[in-house]
Amino acid sequence: MPDLNKQFNRTTVALLRGDITRQEADAIVNAANSGLRGGGGVDGAIHRAGGPSIMQECDQIRRMEGGCQPGHAVITGGGNLKCQYVIHTVGPKYRDGRVDEPRILRDAYQSSLTLANTYELKSIAIPSIGTGAYGYPLEEAAEIALDTVHKFCQTDTTLSDIRFVLFDQFSYDAFAEKFAKLS
Ligand code: ADP
Repeated sequence: MPDLNKQFNRTTVALLRGDITRQEADAIVNAANSGLRGGGGVDGAIHRAGGPSIMQECDQIRRMEGGCQPGHAVITGGGNLKCQYVIHTVGPKYRDGRVDEPRILRDAYQSSLTLANTYELKSIAIPSIGTGAYGYPLEEAAEIALDTVHKFCQTDTTLSDIRFVLFDQFSYDAFAEKFAKLS
């Protein structure tokens, strides 16, 4: 299955299937929880692969700021990962789509990208936020993810390389179908 990519303004957006903890990039994004306490899914994988320093920084952020609200993002170092930073964002816990889930999901991507821009990063790898344990329907989530990134590329950004790293074929296919419609 080929990696897909498209150029939007000065940024290349790519879709690939894989494990985000193996990505070389300035930053990878974590689908965290509000307490920044780690968990299953991509969050667990990042802390396992990255080592304890990431959790130590998360502990400090929790003490200083109380954690990270849904739709917001915070940044730590990348520990043992092949990235300088991990950007931790929190998606919505999906109920029925009527309690602000679409806005919160959009905000989670937007906050992560804005933080990357603030740090003047060039490359970022992003998982499918919210579509695992938090239960966001995949097709709708893929549409929001790609639309948010697409719009972001129209702004003045330091990011020249944005990669969606999809863990399973089902997620990759859902993103690929929406991606094909972007121009
Ligand atoms: P959330 O709680 O936001 O739903 P999850 O981690 O449960 O987050 O799932 C989000 C997505 O991340 C799912 O599609 C899941 O398959 C995927 N995922 C899990 N592990 C990895 C990994 N190592 N790399 C990339 N994506 C992953």
